[in-house]
Amino acid sequence: MHFTEIKPANAELEKYLIKNADTSWNLAPEDLEKISVDQNMATRSSLGAISVNTGKFTGRSPKDRFIVEDELTKDAVWWGDINIKFDADKFDKLHAKMGDYLSGKKLYVRDVYACADPRYKLKIRVITELPWSNMFAYNMFLRPTEEELKNFEPDWVVINAPGFMADPAVDGTRQENFAILNFGKQMAIVGGTGYTGEIKKGIFSALNFILPHQKDVLSMHCSANVGDAGDTSLFFGLSGTGKTTLSADPNRKLIGDDEHGWAADNTIFNFEGGCYAKVIDLSEEKEPDIYKAIKPGALLENVDFKGDTNEVDFEGSSITENTRVSYPIDHINNIQVPSLAKNPKNIFFLTCDAYGVLPPISKLNPGQAAFHFISGYTAKVAGTEAGITEPQVAFSACFGAPFMPLHPTKYADMLSKKMKDANVNVWLINTGWSGGGYGVGKRMKLGYTRAMITAALNGELNDVEFVNHEVFGLAMPVTCPNVPTEVLNPKNTWENKEEYDKVANDLSKKFNKNFEKFSDYASDEILAGAPLVSEKV
Ligand code: ATP
Ligand code: MN
Repeated sequence: MHFTEIKPANAELEKYLIKNADTSWNLAPEDLEKISVDQNMATRSSLGAISVNTGKFTGRSPKDRFIVEDELTKDAVWWGDINIKFDADKFDKLHAKMGDYLSGKKLYVRDVYACADPRYKLKIRVITELPWSNMFAYNMFLRPTEEELKNFEPDWVVINAPGFMADPAVDGTRQENFAILNFGKQMAIVGGTGYTGEIKKGIFSALNFILPHQKDVLSMHCSANVGDAGDTSLFFGLSGTGKTTLSADPNRKLIGDDEHGWAADNTIFNFEGGCYAKVIDLSEEKEPDIYKAIKPGALLENVDFKGDTNEVDFEGSSITENTRVSYPIDHINNIQVPSLAKNPKNIFFLTCDAYGVLPPISKLNPGQAAFHFISGYTAKVAGTEAGITEPQVAFSACFGAPFMPLHPTKYADMLSKKMKDANVNVWLINTGWSGGGYGVGKRMKLGYTRAMITAALNGELNDVEFVNHEVFGLAMPVTCPNVPTEVLNPKNTWENKEEYDKVANDLSKKFNKNFEKFSDYASDEILAGAPLVSEKV
């Protein structure tokens, strides 16, 4: 897509406290690629996509994400160490300081929007210090037509300045880097970090407030695809559990890979216009759709190269485990256009269980579904967040607590009601360890996980026998097409069965301990969805 440059006066930016900047508006991605390469900020890889290094930060920094406390947020946000308060005056001062920093600089401005359902369209202006951050915005948000760009009045503004460092003592931040949302001013400011994910997750967090709180739409950290029969599937899960990987299914049309809304009329719509895939250990054989999406227009981040060549070494992790690529969604062959569909039929909760306890596929009753959604269990695998180098147990409510400004039960109640009304099947998929925990067992083969999901979608598990897991009570199919029977019950894959029982009980205790803070809000049905703790072990 080529756009002629539509250039409002640079004075436009004075609204955002940026003066005399030399701005380029809505440059075509080819131009941004060329500028990035010419200025030695990017390398052209042999796959045609350019590659950049995002600097000190190669993942999000959740401890440096703040929300301004104001009239709108004061009583609505679930404040704590996830949604950290920021003073409104301090925001204004920091914004002004950032404006001074950006004044007189060469800047890139892009007008985009979020939400593929026109009823909920959010117009966004993204102002970036760096050309490739602007390309990320082009790839990841929805791209307006040339006509729509003419009189574009943004609802929200994102200012992204990786080179601007805050002074914690003066500015009220924790460190030099920060990402701050201001709902009153409809603005997100990101400084001191070049990690592009902060841009998209900033807007995601804004939508997770606006949609459920103000528009009766459930917002979800999930991927989505739709089958030929018009049946829609959702895949919830924390980072690294497989949302992007498993939603790219050649037999189903991709709706989106990370952020969706569920409207009152059962429309499922993508917030974004692109995908942001992990590329560590990527191979054409195992993940052909994602591999083929890496071509001119895609933006690689923090990848290694083979020797002195420009050939990407996907196994390389010398910079980070969280190597990534962003691309417009139309780099994937089989997509739904526009990115919305009706008729949600199957929901998959993805978890990457580093203990090797949870079954690779199981079916959840409504109480279990609500319990597991509120719990949001996974092991954080190395990568997306700073400082995580090996798996750690994590409970993150709604499979996305860092992006959810409201109390988790708000999202959980909406989801429970929608699941019942739409009569969806809910499955828990463990894409993590089997045959023992991390260090002993192995991660479930991607091919098996895909086969289990395919079987669930095709109704091939409707008539098979199920047995309940002894501790978690989840219904496990005894057989599944194209999957070896012995992997379906995790205990079978462990050599030491007593050890399995012990570890399963330990994990069960962790679930129950984590849930204590929600139990006052939970119905008997949800509480009955909790795992048991056996007194024998
Ligand atoms: P994020 O929220 O950070 O975007 P995500 O949920 O989209 O994370 P993916 O990008 O799909 O996660 O990452 C899953 C990673 O795990 C991929 O690198 C994939 O190749 C790998 N993987 C290994 N085994 C499996 C499996 N059985 N199922 C799914 N993914 C697997
Ligand atoms: Mn993803």
